[in-house]
Amino acid sequence: MRVNTFPVATLHDNYVWIIEHRNNALVIDPGEAAPVIAVLKERGLSATAILLTHRHWDHVDGIPELQEHFPCPIYGPESSAMPQVTQTLTEGDHLEFWDGMAKFQIWHTPGHTEEHIAYLLADEHNNSTAIFCGDTLFSAGCGRLLGGTAEQLCNSLERYKRLAADTILYCTHEYTQANLRFAQAVEPSNTLIREYAGVVQEQRLNGATTLPTTVGKELEINPFLRCDQPEVITQIEAHTGKTVTSGLQTFTALRQWKDIF
Ligand SMILES: [Zn+2]
Repeated sequence: MRVNTFPVATLHDNYVWIIEHRNNALVIDPGEAAPVIAVLKERGLSATAILLTHRHWDHVDGIPELQEHFPCPIYGPESSAMPQVTQTLTEGDHLEFWDGMAKFQIWHTPGHTEEHIAYLLADEHNNSTAIFCGDTLFSAGCGRLLGGTAEQLCNSLERYKRLAADTILYCTHEYTQANLRFAQAVEPSNTLIREYAGVVQEQRLNGATTLPTTVGKELEINPFLRCDQPEVITQIEAHTGKTVTSGLQTFTALRQWKDIF
């Protein structure tokens, strides 16, 4: 990577991801300003731009205070609910910073909210890709339906499943431990989930972050990417008392189960 990426912990369980190159930084989804400003000043960085994935307060509320210290353009989806965006982005757009040191492709990934977008960071050096996925995908889980439909979210997650296994996923919430408790209820025989729950428990006891994760890891442990697995289907049918006949039905029932878990 020609850029360095690290998280700033904000609010209760949010991460603001910073992409750093020399003395410049891209700030992704700043839900709170003070911790981000402190880190930028400590490292001698100035903000090149703010990148937003979606409308929610815990991803945008830090913008006014951050702009007082670091005025910069604000990229994000086109939405009447996001008046703070100065440069709108849609599916297929390309974005480049620092003479091509950071190049992004934009995905429209509706489901959590209707306007939600993701930023794919291409790394020409080793050909791998990193994605800043907002509240679409979490480690061992996914975002709630807060404006979009189950079908939209299911389709958005299908795109993630097709990426290379070593693709890095920069999720915005530290929900991994609770998500793994649900994943174990959905797949009690999955030894990879059980083992990973132990690893994550240790990390959290030590105050370490469990993120970023990778597509390969999530394909093993994330029930929302595993709707085609026989045990997931069996457990969903046992939970709902109904037969499911499609991946979307399994996904929808899984999302509803998690909402009340
Ligand atoms: Zn959200």
